[in-house]
Amino acid sequence: MALRDGLSDAAALAQRLRVAVADERVLAAIASIPRDRFVPEAERARSYENVALPIDCAQTISQPLVVARMLEALAPASSDRVLDVGTGSGYHAALLALLADRVWTIERHPELSAQAEQAIRGLGLDNVEFVVGDGWAGLPDLAPFDAINVAASTGDRLPEALERQLAVGGRMVAPVGEGRQYLMLTRRSADGLRRERLEPVRFVPLVREGE
Ligand code: SAH
Repeated sequence: MALRDGLSDAAALAQRLRVAVADERVLAAIASIPRDRFVPEAERARSYENVALPIDCAQTISQPLVVARMLEALAPASSDRVLDVGTGSGYHAALLALLADRVWTIERHPELSAQAEQAIRGLGLDNVEFVVGDGWAGLPDLAPFDAINVAASTGDRLPEALERQLAVGGRMVAPVGEGRQYLMLTRRSADGLRRERLEPVRFVPLVREGE
């Protein structure tokens, strides 16, 4: 992989996240992806601050700490097929691409999807598929997935279509809740779904088309 500039900054960012993130695979991935490639020109100087930043289409690239915690909770294995809902800048998808076997990432804004594809291809990552479409529906034709990452808030409604696309042994991480949001980790076992509420977060909404 041809990862060039920004890497010492990315390594320093990973080091700072160590206080809250224990998973060494996740920290190594953070250290390997130059976040500045996913941040618009106007905000580039802040790429390695632990903050969410504005991107095009009035969306945001998530805070690195939240991304790292979501990856830790999702625990993707190197053989996993992963669905990523809400491509945005593509930063989260790039990290998933390092940690898993294959990633399908869905975004409703074609321009964001195209920019994310360019940034990810520019890093030499070739295991990410970019889909423009509705994340609420997921990709039933490609299910089941070992891991599903949802990077926009689903409000009070759990994304049932996405839960149905989880493999046995699969995990899904999604921000849920109206007003106060928190991360929900859902695991599918042979017995059914088990949900675990994690820390509070703040995400842009997962838009419902037609509402
Ligand atoms: N993961 C991103 C941050 C995501 S912000 C990153 O690393 O930068 C959430 C994204 O979800 C936005 O880009 C928004 O356009 C997208 N989104 C919102 N509702 C959606 C829907 N119904 N289907 C697909 N994408 C959606």
